[in-house]
Formats: sequence, structure tokens, C-alpha cells
Amino acid sequence: MAGMANYLQTKAIVLGHRDLAEHDRLYTLFTEAKGKIEVRVRGARKILSKLQPPLSSIAVVRVLIYEGRSRPLLIGIETAERLPQVAAVLWRAQVAARFIRLVDLATRPEIHDAELFALLRDGLHMAEHVAPTQASALRDAFILQLLIHSGYKPELDRCVQCRNANPNAFSAAHGGAICSKCAVSDPNAVAVCAADFDALRAHATVPLAATSILPSSNLGAITQSLLRYRLETLMWFPAT
Ligand SMILES: [Zn+2]
Repeated sequence: MAGMANYLQTKAIVLGHRDLAEHDRLYTLFTEAKGKIEVRVRGARKILSKLQPPLSSIAVVRVLIYEGRSRPLLIGIETAERLPQVAAVLWRAQVAARFIRLVDLATRPEIHDAELFALLRDGLHMAEHVAPTQASALRDAFILQLLIHSGYKPELDRCVQCRNANPNAFSAAHGGAICSKCAVSDPNAVAVCAADFDALRAHATVPLAATSILPSSNLGAITQSLLRYRLETLMWFPAT
């Protein structure tokens, strides 16, 4: 088994790619074993064409990587978990692609994170299965859980400024629930009722596979404001 330590076999989800000099490409993978890594795919036409179908689809793949002295080299890939509805239905593909993009934005390279891999994998499987009426609940649960996992846990119980126990707005800039008096300092604060705070707590904690038990979500303005402040991006999801 000499040299086997140089090979890595793991499940992964393709986050993106860019061209390198000559005919090579660099693919960014979110792997179960090592988090986000970049692997080189050699451009020899035959190899690229053989690896291409699983590299270009939204799915969970199994990869074999050679970890040499320079950049890791992808030498094998196969689809491990197919998502046929994501491949066939545009809005499902759009939801899945946005989850992938958000994980790319929220992560840095080479930090092992099996929980985040599981969250993204569950998100993709739910993009495959979710009923159109529950797509907004899935979106908001995914965004909240991604941000919480990334260390951006919003306060949902008391005013972040004065600890007032009956907050009635949400300020992504200040970090969560806020009372009307304190909300004056944030022109982008979103008005939120007590039922919305209950919904936020539910979306922040429900397993994604149980998204169907959530009420269809009105939290879009809140999750968009969180993305804008925490990931510096706006990410519009398809209407379903
Ligand atoms: Zn306050």
C-alpha cells in the first residue's frame, strides 16, 4: 500500500470552476473530508470528457484525488447521489445552484466541516423534493442555518440593543431582534411581529428534510437582509 496516503477518496459537491493555462481547469469542490478544496483537472481531451458529465451536474459525487506536491489532481469522479428533478426542472436547479453559491461565499478553503457538507447535501436533496408551496420555507431555513453555522447567529428573543423583551423589528446590521425605539438607528430594519419571530426560530432549527411542516414563509425580507449584511450579496430565488 505504499503511497496510498497520497490519495483522497471522499464525497463532494462541485461549487464551480475556472480555466487554467493551456487546457487545464481548476474545480472548486466542497468535500466531506476536507471542506472546500481546489483540484486541477488535466486538459487532455479524453480525460476531461470522461470526467465531464459528473463535473457539470448538480449532484453529490464521489471523487478520487491525488495529493501530490503541487495542486491536488482529480483522477476519478462518479455520481453518488443523483438529483433528476433538479436536472429537469428549472426552478429546482435555480434553488440548488443558489445553495451551492451561498456555501461557496460563506466558506474559506481547507476547513473540514462535515456538518456544513451535510447541510448543503440536505439542501440539494430538498431542492429535488420540496413542494413548490414550501420552497420559500426551505430557502429561509437554509439561509438561516448556513449563517448560524458560519457564526452569524442572530438574536431572536430580545432587543439586541436594550434587551427589551418585546422586540418588533429585525436589524441585520445590529445582529437580530430590535425594539422600535432602538430600530430608529437602522433605516433598513424590517418590521417583525411575534409570529414572525416564532417562524424564525422554527426555520433556524428544523431539519431541512422536515421543511414541509413549516408554515410557508414570509421571512424573505429578513433572510435577504442577513445575506446582504453577512455575506455582502443579494441572492434572488425563483418564485414557485
Ligand atoms: Zn431596544
